[in-house]
Amino acid sequence: MFGGIPFEHFAHGGGGGGSFGGGRGGSAEPPDTTKLYETLELEKDATAKDIKKAYFRLSKVHHPDKGGDAHKFKEISAAYEILSDPEKRKQYDEYGLEGVDDEGGAQQRGEDLFSMFFGGGRGNGRARGPRKGPSVNHPIKVSLEDLYNGKTVKLAVNRKVIIGDAKECEKCNGRGAIMEVRQIGPGMITQMQRTCPSCQGQGNTAKTKSERQVLEVHIEKGMKHEQKITFRGMADETPGMETGDVNFIIQEKEHELFKRKGADLLVTKDISLNQALTGFTWKIKHLDGRQVVIKTRPGQIIECETTDAESGRTLPYITMVKDEGMPSLGNPFVKGNLYIAFHVKFPQKLEPDVIKQLRMILPDADIEEEYDPEQVEEHFMDVADLRHFGKGGAVSQQSEYDSDDEDRQGGVQCQQS
Ligand SMILES: [Zn+2]
Repeated sequence: MFGGIPFEHFAHGGGGGGSFGGGRGGSAEPPDTTKLYETLELEKDATAKDIKKAYFRLSKVHHPDKGGDAHKFKEISAAYEILSDPEKRKQYDEYGLEGVDDEGGAQQRGEDLFSMFFGGGRGNGRARGPRKGPSVNHPIKVSLEDLYNGKTVKLAVNRKVIIGDAKECEKCNGRGAIMEVRQIGPGMITQMQRTCPSCQGQGNTAKTKSERQVLEVHIEKGMKHEQKITFRGMADETPGMETGDVNFIIQEKEHELFKRKGADLLVTKDISLNQALTGFTWKIKHLDGRQVVIKTRPGQIIECETTDAESGRTLPYITMVKDEGMPSLGNPFVKGNLYIAFHVKFPQKLEPDVIKQLRMILPDADIEEEYDPEQVEEHFMDVADLRHFGKGGAVSQQSEYDSDDEDRQGGVQCQQS
């Protein structure tokens, strides 16, 4: 139907279940709709008159000019501001602070309602509208070629949509939670709040149906690994909540030639010692299909890799071709750079006549020392590792005793025998 478009991505996420992520953290707990009443020391069924009275009484007690606590006073004022406004009070009673339209309110005073009442930590400060339902994350595997060239992929998702109107849950009267009395010991009972099992904490019940939706995912030039492509409000519909998002999370596939970091690309190249000294040309196929030839300038020499003395890591000789990296996201005409890391392969063995010729051709040939073999010591060398440097010689008893080795005891025994 979509001409060989990779539906494989949906093997693990299509059934409407998928993995939940994003959203507003824990989503099942009902909103707090009592805090403001508690602040004004009121019951939830308080009248407008009760609210006014409570506010005047408490603001007198807590006014900073009269030695009251400034923060407490602010809380009282904000609570009054919301509960004295019938519209805001209604929103608060239904959705908690998140439901209160806060424009021109606390935000203009540079304060977030949440941080005022809950001490911050509510995340992104989205303090308006009903709570948002869970979002769904779908990983989507994308080749480096597609991230270089851009691509549009059509993908199908199954989502739940609500049929008709949602009804308030009868078991919990829309609260999403019920109080339960439990016996915790002989003659001891406790009251516990738990998520309403009838509506799974939604406060509403509604009939839903599964709907198949085809989404066009635009992979833009230069997009990166783990980057999110969001379809707002395309997750499962949940009664009483703003519908969550469907997010496609780009998973960059490994490329056999190019490695990527930001907008830069890296290739590794093995060359012979001959090529390192006399030059080379190397034809590669770039990510957009272009044939690109990378070559040395006349006389350019590629050096050997070096070894970092401390870590023992090999540091390759690096060259760079400007502007042959990835396109930048949002500005595809500006490209990163292409780095080339070299590994120079030395010959394992040379014929004596080749050695003789090389000695004549290459600069700075060895000046053979003159000596009498009877008078000096001659040595040949073995290959070694610089990390072992400093560890030669006999292991002295003193240093073994000082070290925190587990065979410290062994050292002591040695001493005794
Ligand atoms: Zn319920």
